[in-house]
Amino acid sequence: MVNVKARAVGGPTESFKSTEITRRNLDKHDVLIEIKYAGICHSDIHAARGEWGEVHYPLVPGHEIAGIVTEVGGQVTKFKVGDRVGVGCMVDSCGQCSSCQEGEEQYCEEGNVPTYAGIDKYGEHTQGGYSTHIVVTDGFVVTIPDNIPLETAAPLLCAGITTYSPLKRWQAEKGKKVAVIGLGGLGHLAVKIAHAMNAEVTVLSQTLKKEEDGMKFGAKNYHATSNPETFNKLANSFDLIINTVSAKLDMNAYLNMLALNGTLVNVGAPSEPLGVNALTLIGKRRSFAGSMIGGIQETQDMLDFCSEHNIVPEIELISADRIDEAYERVLHSDVRYRFVIDNSTI
Ligand code: NAP
Ligand code: ZN
Repeated sequence: MVNVKARAVGGPTESFKSTEITRRNLDKHDVLIEIKYAGICHSDIHAARGEWGEVHYPLVPGHEIAGIVTEVGGQVTKFKVGDRVGVGCMVDSCGQCSSCQEGEEQYCEEGNVPTYAGIDKYGEHTQGGYSTHIVVTDGFVVTIPDNIPLETAAPLLCAGITTYSPLKRWQAEKGKKVAVIGLGGLGHLAVKIAHAMNAEVTVLSQTLKKEEDGMKFGAKNYHATSNPETFNKLANSFDLIINTVSAKLDMNAYLNMLALNGTLVNVGAPSEPLGVNALTLIGKRRSFAGSMIGGIQETQDMLDFCSEHNIVPEIELISADRIDEAYERVLHSDVRYRFVIDNSTI
């Protein structure tokens, strides 16, 4: 076991404090990573504040991890010291069930081991990326392509894969009209990725404040959902809608914007139930779906896709002392468009 520096929260209403946590000694398939940057995902806030249920405190969040390999276990062949690598929302899974066998470890029948707020196979509480080092089994580490700087790679490990996966599955492509609800961390990457897949992209944001940015990211249209006219004007319009909003919305109003056979994929994860009116679905054979991050191979595919299409998130780099402030700004939709911690300040 080694002690490493971290920033932890001690309870749902507490602020972040400097602390030390332990990381295990390397097993034969383990990789020790010096974390250079960690993105702040809205899920970190939901979890740290106990919105998704009880968590074990002190909690070190962070599942958008980019760093450098500093040591490898005896049987690791895929990585060597000095490699640029990433870790996302999970650090292990059973490896045996049909989901794992199909490369969809996030849906592991035993439950995947989340990067933080989980319990690993050693019986230890997992602790995430707001720390200087992490030990992860090699099957859950991905390679960051050379042309993606580490600080902008970090948010791809959750926000990137969470939007890439449903866009790919529901075939965002030329001739498809795709809407993205919410222009935050996930939303702005959804716009960039859907645009790179050649779909026609529309942003549905609360206001028009970020319109210029949305168009720069590749949107063709931009509408304010605070204007009730938006919902009339865009009724029956979209083949695919990705909802990235962290709060409860009136889902029926958005489902009504789907064309015949259209699908609304919910990736936002508010704790309250989202009420859906059956008649809104039936009337145009619409589907309401959900999607959780992506598998490990798919995460590597997403990084390679972003590398090829020069897609990187817009980030605001902060020191670890500013995590509490960043959380408040995310909660006020005042994020342009992902906070990333410089882990040298931890
Ligand atoms: P974020 O940066 O805070 O972005 C969410 C955006 O939603 C905001 O920027 C805002 O965009 C809009 N929004 C916020 N509150 C709203 C409200 N009350 N009404 C309408 N719109 C509102 O958050 P994020 O990191 O992208 O995460 C978004 C959600 O996805 C979170 O719930 C997170 O837990 C979840 N998530 C899910 C997965 C998964 O696997 N499914 C993975 C990662 C994250 P505008 O200002 O443009 O309106
Ligand atoms: Zn996340």
